[in-house]
Amino acid sequence: VATRSHWQADLRDAPDALVATSAERYDVAVVGGGIAGVSTAYWLHRLEPGLRVVVLEGEHLAAGASGRNAGFLLQGADPDYATTVDRLGRDVARRLWELTMETRQGLVEALGGEDVGLEEHGSFVLAGDEAEDERLQRSEVLLREDGISVFYLPPAAAEALGCRGMKGALVVPTGAVLHPVRTVHALADRSGAAIRERCPVLGVATTGDNVELRTSQGAVRAEKAVLALNAFLPRLLPDFEALVRPVRAQMLVTAPVTRRLHVPVYSHVGYFYLRQLPTGEVLLGGARHLHADAERGYDDATTPVLQADLESYLHEHFPSLAGGEVVRRWSGTMGFSPDGLPAIGRLPGEAHVWGVAGFTGHGMAYGFRTARAVAAAVLGLPDEYSDLLSVSRLSRGPHASADSSGPA
Ligand SMILES: Cc1cc2nc3c(=O)[nH]c(=O)nc-3n(C[C@H](O)[C@H](O)[C@H](O)COP(=O)(O)OP(=O)(O)OC[C@H]3O[C@@H](n4cnc5c(N)ncnc54)[C@H](O)[C@@H]3O)c2cc1C
Repeated sequence: VATRSHWQADLRDAPDALVATSAERYDVAVVGGGIAGVSTAYWLHRLEPGLRVVVLEGEHLAAGASGRNAGFLLQGADPDYATTVDRLGRDVARRLWELTMETRQGLVEALGGEDVGLEEHGSFVLAGDEAEDERLQRSEVLLREDGISVFYLPPAAAEALGCRGMKGALVVPTGAVLHPVRTVHALADRSGAAIRERCPVLGVATTGDNVELRTSQGAVRAEKAVLALNAFLPRLLPDFEALVRPVRAQMLVTAPVTRRLHVPVYSHVGYFYLRQLPTGEVLLGGARHLHADAERGYDDATTPVLQADLESYLHEHFPSLAGGEVVRRWSGTMGFSPDGLPAIGRLPGEAHVWGVAGFTGHGMAYGFRTARAVAAAVLGLPDEYSDLLSVSRLSRGPHASADSSGPA
């Protein structure tokens, strides 16, 4: 039985796609209606307003990970900056921090006041042990040297937050959270694109100067195409199995309890992540590292053992939030890249087809700004992050292996 997230619970079923006809032609077809797909459509519209763009989504907007995540806008590539500096180098770490800040700021500007549940009260990274505590202290120093203001709090202050058994905390004032499904819909509304839901793409072929997308509803032709499928890319094109690996993440939500937590929290290197909604529900995800083998693949299901670990975490570390009954559990499929960063590139041998994938559990934090780089690549325009995000970096040699970049 497929799961449905807290955010997807009150979505209506998408209407059937209009049957495509051979007369249906676009300048750009974007495949995938998650945060990456709708953001790419949005940026294509911003960069070249007259373009005719279509988004082809197999189920409904935000059906994938984009509708199932925690809605955290992580700042930087890992919950602690020292880890990013160690694995990717200082310059890349700083640029990734800027990219995620630009995502947050860009969303605020693009969505201009629309209620997408955005809360910009900062975020907390809590240390689960001494080693993580030491990395948070180092992160504070490194970030401040790089001109980014964050604050380290010692364990006693972290306890004052109401959490138990943690070491110190890093306060990140620019951290934020949002409602991911509302965000995807708001961007789709502002993209000027035609949205075709229940329209899975079954094949992609270039014929002459056109790309033909074979869908369950007929063929759609476009001059260019972008595959924004993240974890699902290898399902359409198995050659990409080495680039993006499907990894499951699970979450739960409880009935409302008195609101005590006003900021999102990451702990245990991002392997646990927790937030409380203004209406009191507690959302909690993670524990994947305790079940690494079981959490590989596309199976949309929750498991009693991992869910029990989530509940134990809540009782042990946030007892004041643990009183609500669990009212929903769900899962989603993330797409992990070899170095933990999203990758953008033209498909080999396809002059008119681009792909973006590999958000490695951080697509809400990276997606909107990354999509600008995708749109720029499609239009032949420069983007300051195109080198950082280009898939060609992976053939130049790995930055470093990254399997731990939380949350999720
Ligand atoms: C439980 C969980 C918690 C997470 N928490 C966070 C978080 O707090 N912050 C954060 O930044 N990230 C988080 N993530 C990761 C984040 O959700 C993803 O990185 C991001 O949503 C990826 O977006 P996307 O648009 O690339 O892919 P997706 O959202 O997966 O979108 C791909 C879309 O393509 C569609 N599709 C698939 N195949 C086809 C086809 N053949 N034709 C047409 N359409 C197709 C799918 O239906 C889907 O809608 C979490 C993920 C999970 C699962």
